[in-house]
Formats: sequence, structure tokens, C-alpha cells
Amino acid sequence: MTRQPDHKRPNAETIDAFVRIVGEDHAIRDAAAMTPYLVEWRDRYRGKAALVLKPADTEQVSSILKLANETRTAVVPQGGNTGLVGGQIPFETGNEVVLSLGRLDRVRGIDLASNCMTVEAGLVLALARQLAANAGRLFPLSLASEGSCQIGGVLATNAGGVAVLAYGSARDLTLGLEVVLADGTVWNGLKSLRKDNSGYDLKDLFIGSEGTLGVITAAVLRLFPKPAERVTCMAGLSLLEAAPDFFARVAGRAGPALTAFEIMPRTGLEFVLRHGSDVREPFPSPHAWYLLFELTSPREGEELQRLAETVLDEGIKTREIESAVIASSLAQSEGLWRLRELMSEVQKHEGGSIKHDVAVPVARIPEFIARANQLVELMVPGARPIPFGHLGDGNIHYNVSQPPGMDRTIFLSHWEAMNAAVHEIVLDLGGSISAEHGIGRMKRDLLPHAKPAIEIELMRKIKRAFDPNRILNPGKLLP
Ligand code: FAD
Repeated sequence: MTRQPDHKRPNAETIDAFVRIVGEDHAIRDAAAMTPYLVEWRDRYRGKAALVLKPADTEQVSSILKLANETRTAVVPQGGNTGLVGGQIPFETGNEVVLSLGRLDRVRGIDLASNCMTVEAGLVLALARQLAANAGRLFPLSLASEGSCQIGGVLATNAGGVAVLAYGSARDLTLGLEVVLADGTVWNGLKSLRKDNSGYDLKDLFIGSEGTLGVITAAVLRLFPKPAERVTCMAGLSLLEAAPDFFARVAGRAGPALTAFEIMPRTGLEFVLRHGSDVREPFPSPHAWYLLFELTSPREGEELQRLAETVLDEGIKTREIESAVIASSLAQSEGLWRLRELMSEVQKHEGGSIKHDVAVPVARIPEFIARANQLVELMVPGARPIPFGHLGDGNIHYNVSQPPGMDRTIFLSHWEAMNAAVHEIVLDLGGSISAEHGIGRMKRDLLPHAKPAIEIELMRKIKRAFDPNRILNPGKLLP
């Protein structure tokens, strides 16, 4: 049982004062009406709250935090509620206030000369991508949850996704931030500079801080040229050991043109084929593993098709891969990507699933998966590992589905023990227990095993400096 924060419930007078800031229409006091804000996507976390507040702008966020700080009320910032570590869900005490940022969804400007756009935290990621596209640019951050997750959430978690290989994670895509601090002060750091060596980089502290240091209200995001050419390829192979070699071959030949390199196991693909709509087998016969990769270029005539044919041909000759397909149309490319995008969602239909979001050096991925699979089979015979994800980043979502027919609750009771054992392998291989989802509530107590004591102590000092009264998302991230 995770330790819960000991903050008191705001009294009736304070609740009324909070509601007056946003107006009665934008506050939820009724327990049943709060439910969508209190339940996580996978139903792993269910919380309670004193109130849900939906501010309209930075000024209202500032007034809310000022009052929260004065009354020592705990505040849980929430974006699209797609986070996978429980950071956006309040605890079960019912004493916290959920601050839902969705109404801060304005576009403050696009600056093509500086190649950036300034948007508010509540803008949905897919709309931010569309906005960039309408301006003839690319905002490359791309996640399967992009139809719901918001800019504030992706920055607070330093989200990754499928284009990290070429463009980096949310941190690398951010030039400036506007943040409301714990006492309500607004820090305007909305700079659009590529170069700024004028001291500590404060924005980098807020990015990835999961709502524990401040509430992000707006951001300046980098834009890139829109791809003019795109080639999507899939390869099938039976020996996982060959995958890092094939990745090195493609990355070496394609350089910055390689924008994504993903891996999926056969079991996961079978889940997709069983439960997904509008999906089909990529090859006439099955393979143990599938690699999905994409080459893009902002210029036409880069001969990406020929490059793809060359690396796939070499891969087959060296027996790194066995089958290959290059999408011949946009529809075929979307069809291949759909197999990957549905991989998380379909696991729900196969009963309980124990998750890990880990990173290890790319070359050690086969060893990691082999050791983890062996261990899982010993712990729960018949359990079905679904290791998939961003092979090019060394980031594997090592999910394990329950054995068919097993009681879901009994299977999920292995969650902590399985996490601990899998993470031990990850650390032994020089990896990280959280590649892109963050720490939140789920991994908070694992952090001391994964980080040196000095790092935890420095993080605690930073938290004390930014939020001395511990009102911002208490009980999350920091052990
Ligand atoms: P929320 O879930 O609402 O919040 C996440 C955290 O950020 C919480 O700690 C919250 O307190 C804090 N927060 C939210 N808004 C603010 C703000 N304005 N200021 C300060 N703190 C704030 N993640 C990846 O990195 N890569 C993936 O490929 C990926 N794929 C996913 C696929 C699916 C199907 C799903 C459901 C999730 C996936 N995720 C992935 C996880 C999730 O989408 C990301 O973590 C996303 O960045 C969360 O954004 P959100 O707006 O939903 O934030």
C-alpha cells in the first residue's frame, strides 16, 4: 500500500473560495461527476478528491495555487489523464483538489522565422501537431495517446513516443515555458531562443517534474520541416539477437533519415489481429518478431525507397531478417503503423497485464528480454510476455499478460514482485526503470533502489526550494 499524503481536506469556506475563482460552471463538487478525473485509463488507480477545478487561464491557475498554498491544500495537476504511472490521479483520502488544465487550450502564436509555436498547456497533442502541419511545419512528438494527452502533460512527463530517435523527447522540443509556482507566482520563461547560456536551465527542471514543482500553463515548442518523402518498412525475423545488428545497419546507412524503429513480438501481433479492427497480417507466414521502421526526408528526390530496398536486401542476405515489406501507399503505411499503435490497447482484452517501461542499451535488449522471460515463466507459468516498443531508443515496454483462464486478481497480485525482479535485471544491464512514462505513484518507492542516494537528496532539496509547503502533487515521484 503506497503511503498517502497527510494534507487536510479544505474546509467549506476554502472550497467556496476555490469555486469562486473559476466560477460554479467550471468546478465539480459532486463525487459522481468527478469520476472521469479520478480514474486512470487502465483502472489501476482510483482516487477521491475534494473538488475538481477547471481554470480558464494562467491568472486563474495563479489564484488557485496562491489560495492552496495559504490553506495548505494539496493540488493534483491533470492534463488529458493518459499518464501510465498514476501521477495525475489523487490519492484515496479525498482531501486533494484536481486542477484540470484542459480549458487553457489557446494558440498564442506561430513564429516561422524562429521555427516555433507558443501554445497553452491544455492543447491536445494531436491538435498541436495539426496546427504545425497547417503552418507547413512538423511538430514531431507522436504518441498513441495523442488524441487525448495535452501539451502540459507531455512536458510534465517528458514524453517520448515514436519519433525520439530523430527529434528527441518532449524536453528536446521545448524552447521556453510559462509556469505557475507553488505560491501562485507566474514565471514567464516563454523564450524562443536556440541559444541561452545565462545560468541554470529552469525549464529543464519543470520538464519531467510530473506536476511536483509547478504548473505548466504555456510552452514554446520547436517546429521542423514537414517530411516531403516517407518510406515505411516492416521486417520479420525469428532471432531477436539479430535485431540490434539490423538496427545498427539501418541507422548507419540512413543517419538522420531514420525517424522511427519499433519492435513487436508475434504474441502481441496476434492480440492486435484478434481484437483490433481494420488490421491484417503483414506477411503470408508468421515470424517471432516484427520490426517497423520509417525513413523520412524534408526534401524530395532523396531516394529513400532505394535506401530502404538496399538495407532490407542486406538484412536478408546476412540473415538478420527473413521477410520484408515496403509500404507502397499511404494506406499501406497507415496499416503497418496501426499494428504498432494498437499494441497497448489490445492487451486490455486479454485479462490482467503487468507493465514495465524500461530502457537498456540497444545491444543488450535481446539479453534483457531472454532473462526477463525466463524469470516471468518461473514466477507465473504460462504468463505471456509482450515486449514491444521503441527498439531504437533501447526502450522496451515489457508487458506481461496473464495466462489464459487465470484469475485476473491473482495474476495482478504478482505486480510488485514481478516489477522488482524485472527491474533488477534492467539495473544489472545498466538500464533505467522508467524510460518515458515517469515515476508518478507507481514507481515512487522503487526510486531509492534505482538511483544513488545523492540524486534523491538533491531532488528533495529542489522540491523544498520550489514547494516548501508540499502542496504540488504530494506523494508522487519523490519517495
Ligand atoms: P496526465 O496523465 O493528465 O498527467 C501526467 C502527469 O503530468 C501527472 O503527474 C500530472 O500531475 C502532470 N501534469 C499534467 N499536466 C500538467 C501541467 N500542465 N503542469 C504540470 N504538471 C502537469 N508516453 C510516452 O512517453 N510515450 C508513448 O509512446 C506513450 N504512449 C501511450 C499510449 C497510450 C495508449 C497511453 C494511454 C499512454 C501513452 N503514454 C506514452 C503515456 C501518456 O500519454 C503520456 O505520459 C502523456 O505525456 C501524458 O499526458 P496527459 O496530458 O494525459 O497528462
